[in-house]
Amino acid sequence: MASDSGSTVMIEKEFPKSEKRKTNFDVIIIGGGPAGYTSGIYCSRARHETLILTGVLPGGQLVNTTEVENYPGFEHGVMGPDLMITMRKQTERMGAKIIDDEVIDVDFRHKPFKILTASEEYECKAVIIATGASPRKLGIAGEQTYGGKGVSYCATCDGPFFRNQEIVVVGGGDSAIEEATFLTKFGKKVHVIHRKDQLRASKVMQERAFSNPKIEMHWNTVVSDISGDGKVQSVILSDVKSNVKTSLSVGAVFVAIGHEPNTKVFKDRVELDEQGYIKLKDHTKTSIQGVFAAGDVHDHRYRQAITAAGFGCMAAIDVDRYLTESK
Ligand code: NDP
Repeated sequence: MASDSGSTVMIEKEFPKSEKRKTNFDVIIIGGGPAGYTSGIYCSRARHETLILTGVLPGGQLVNTTEVENYPGFEHGVMGPDLMITMRKQTERMGAKIIDDEVIDVDFRHKPFKILTASEEYECKAVIIATGASPRKLGIAGEQTYGGKGVSYCATCDGPFFRNQEIVVVGGGDSAIEEATFLTKFGKKVHVIHRKDQLRASKVMQERAFSNPKIEMHWNTVVSDISGDGKVQSVILSDVKSNVKTSLSVGAVFVAIGHEPNTKVFKDRVELDEQGYIKLKDHTKTSIQGVFAAGDVHDHRYRQAITAAGFGCMAAIDVDRYLTESK
């Protein structure tokens, strides 16, 4: 396996042989969120033939959010899905080809690199991994059983299904508090269940939640069980200090406890850290020369749309330099 450090700890997996049609690009960007689209804009403007494989749900995490108030350029904020549609159109206008297909394997051992989807095999000189991160699961009884039947990871998508019901939101970060506030539009009451005695969410979000009469905070508490009869009907709440358990009748449980990096397909292909995020050196370079990464797939510190876009720009500039130097 190629590595610009000259050594590698990765195990080589057998890459499946394919008779599929080959298609060549200068750069393939894997992922269709702010990092992927921004790198697509920069790579296309640098006149590199660019393909973006977005996965089956293009737009990244912003398609699951409501109003974004902190993305510069929008005086009155912008809806997350609208921002992503605009970014996609801008990327296409710059000349990038965008396909909503999912990458199932990659071969970075030799150049050109190979990128495999269910229907195609693509080849390219450079890759930018911008696959982002996905919602973390609670891992408790009932979570999987009632997935799509009251358990949700997306308030924007599913909130309207729970009008006039009692709703639980798990978590204490910006996502949880933003979702709880949004869900008060629909629910009779929103219970925020947080395992600590203070929130991690930004002060402005906290103030909004604390002044909302429909939101009730449950401190030092976790959801230990979800039950129902075909759909969610109740949760068991456990006090983490006293271990006292109580039952709460609710129609929905929204889980908003952070994210896991989307790196399954890159395991044993590029170096990952202990949490599964892509390890970088010299800003955007992965352990494989010619393979770069941008956004939440490596960044668990900032995790903002604007920082993901910034990383996308950086990765594209590094790709441009790499392609120019390797000519
Ligand atoms: P965070 O990692 O910030 O917060 C996760 C929350 O879930 C924490 O309160 C954590 O608790 C809790 N948690 C984690 N695991 C568990 C578990 N197994 N059981 C119970 N609780 C758990 O994630 P977010 O998704 O909230 O935010 C990610 C990033 O995106 C942040 O930087 C945030 O600022 C940003 N963001 C910005 C928004 C905006 O500006 N509009 C909207 C949404 C997100 P603990 O505190 O104890 O660790």
